[in-house]
Amino acid sequence: MTQHRVLKQLEKGERINLLGLSRDAMEQFFLALGEKKFRAHQVMKWIHHRGAESIDDMTDVSKKLRERLVEIAEIRAPKIIKQLDAKDGCRKWLLEVDGGSAIETVFIPDGERGTLCVSSQVGCSLDCSFCATGKQGFNKDLTAAEIIGQVWLAAKSFDSLDPKKHRAVTNVVMMGMGEPLLNFDNVVDSMNTMMDDYGYGISKRRVTLSTSGVVPQLDRLADYTDASLAISLHAPNDEIRDVLVPINKKYPIARLLESSQNYIARMPDSNRKLTVEYTLIRDVNDQPEHARELGKLLKDIPCKINLIPFNPFDLSDYKKVRDHDLKTFQEILHKMGHVAPIRTTRGDDIDAACGQLSGAVNDRTRRAERYKSGQWQSGVEPVRIIEPKN
Ligand code: SF4
Repeated sequence: MTQHRVLKQLEKGERINLLGLSRDAMEQFFLALGEKKFRAHQVMKWIHHRGAESIDDMTDVSKKLRERLVEIAEIRAPKIIKQLDAKDGCRKWLLEVDGGSAIETVFIPDGERGTLCVSSQVGCSLDCSFCATGKQGFNKDLTAAEIIGQVWLAAKSFDSLDPKKHRAVTNVVMMGMGEPLLNFDNVVDSMNTMMDDYGYGISKRRVTLSTSGVVPQLDRLADYTDASLAISLHAPNDEIRDVLVPINKKYPIARLLESSQNYIARMPDSNRKLTVEYTLIRDVNDQPEHARELGKLLKDIPCKINLIPFNPFDLSDYKKVRDHDLKTFQEILHKMGHVAPIRTTRGDDIDAACGQLSGAVNDRTRRAERYKSGQWQSGVEPVRIIEPKN
């Protein structure tokens, strides 16, 4: 994908950001310069294994080639505006990207595992009603360099790039700001670099794309990658999901599940499972009847259901699930034979929890302005809140 783009950029005399090139694109780039393919691998190792920030650092590349590269290429990651460290070890970065907006990236350590939650867009065009990112409006798709740059910066901040040594970042989830499948080419290329031995060498089971359900793009995803898949379901039926995740009106649950299963079926390893994300919101989707309906819906689908307590934020009236409702919901799913872990909230003191990422979006949609002024008219009925039982 980026291999076609890189050749066009070269033709136009545009500066190439080497950080964002997948292996294919990097090979095409060096072949176009009249060099051998192995130069591509050499340079990728300098960037992704050793964290090189400058072409001049690449001492085993000939001086002549380095001088040529300095003229036409660069290594440029997003700029760190702020780094916040939580008491529980979570780390969050506010990063400036081209155009002046800011995105957020979060690192979540858990024993031997270190998960990096990566953003794919500045803001999001989809406006799920429970999501802080959606309220910020939308500015742009991140470039591949801005996506892989988040992994590069995080790995460098823990001094852990070399795949042969212990690394802090063991897992990546495309669950930060944005809908990854709406930035298809850049996301797929970046994920492939995360899994590439010349990139970060992370196992395909540990690189996960999470989608709210852009079904046409999901239908073609298996042609380009074999990363793991998560879907943001959040509702047991279309009536509730239409309000929580508005794209459901276009691609309802049945279509999303069908497309997800097709993706999993095309994976080369046979025992791959789908991850289902379910955010529990008080009196909206957290009652026993919802758990039973969800259990039934997913009965024949090999999956893990992650239960995520909603994190309240300004501009949202939704409330956090009560503890006993969360437990009851989980017990019902367990009794129905599902694996349904509760994802504990992490990084509370730095607003790093799921659904709280908001960055600083130069909103092109004016959605954020309308939310703040209280004038928002989304055209959908507000979700029916179930009266609590005494
Ligand atoms: S949940 Fe995901 S798709 Fe929905 S508005 Fe938030 S970032 Fe966008």
